[in-house]
Amino acid sequence: GASIRRVREVLECDQSIEGLGNISTVGYPLARGISLRQVSFSYVRERPALDDVSLEICHGDCVALVGPSGSGKSTIARLLVRVADPALGQILLDGRPITEYSLAAIRTAVSYVPQKPVLFDGTVRENLLYGKPTATPVELQSVVVAAQLMPVLARFSKGLEAHIGPSGHRLSGGEAQRLAIARALLRDASVLILDESTSALDLPTERAVFEAIGRRRSASIVIVISHRLTSLTWVNRIVVMNRGRIVAAGNHDLLYAQFPQYRQLYDTDQRSAIN
Ligand code: ATP
Repeated sequence: GASIRRVREVLECDQSIEGLGNISTVGYPLARGISLRQVSFSYVRERPALDDVSLEICHGDCVALVGPSGSGKSTIARLLVRVADPALGQILLDGRPITEYSLAAIRTAVSYVPQKPVLFDGTVRENLLYGKPTATPVELQSVVVAAQLMPVLARFSKGLEAHIGPSGHRLSGGEAQRLAIARALLRDASVLILDESTSALDLPTERAVFEAIGRRRSASIVIVISHRLTSLTWVNRIVVMNRGRIVAAGNHDLLYAQFPQYRQLYDTDQRSAIN
């Protein structure tokens, strides 16, 4: 998954985001979902990071993007938050080209959780409320439970009022990731993208977080980018990428039975989970 550093790199080197539109709000939920239509994108000329990718994601869908490192998963996320635009093809958000929305509208509607979360020097509560300043205590409690933050809070005598230190350095990597996920859930954005955002969690905790997200009655589209295929049984659809292309899509059982490439990725992951 992309670290925020890589996102910044793209932001800083790429001044090509033009044609920012003026539609100032994105539907919640997205009545017509997200469409990628024959999307291609290259960071470096002649080396496509995405090559003719078409993908429909409907309202309420939970989709996982899997595939080897460098296959283009995070690039899809970057195009959806509009850090860059496709060289070819089109992305539609709720039936309208993504270029017709203002950047603020997109960044509000799409909640992107990177592998290394950005936290600030403040309390757990302040970091959570950054996602939604008007959140009620009930809403806070619900995301704390869903993101498996309860055991983290129990570690601090002050609970939600505990200070996490500059950049959240009092938290372990996995604790910081859980806080970032809770904050993103609180926002109830139209699209939630988890880009390797559970990579530092142990398997049972990751599974618990995912199960809670799957159970939440949320109107968000959820896109999960993950190396760990074992934890992805809860999603509606798994999209397998390789070298910038979608090579297979379906649920786990179908992919495992019919696509050797997926079976290989899954079995490798299973073995590393056991070892
Ligand atoms: P990983 O699982 O390792 O994060 P990924 O599937 O998310 O991989 P991407 O990050 O989308 O893959 O990368 C797709 C391709 O684009 C790779 O070949 C990668 O080397 C290249 N790439 C990614 N970011 C940049 C960048 N900022 N500049 C140049 N090339 C890049």
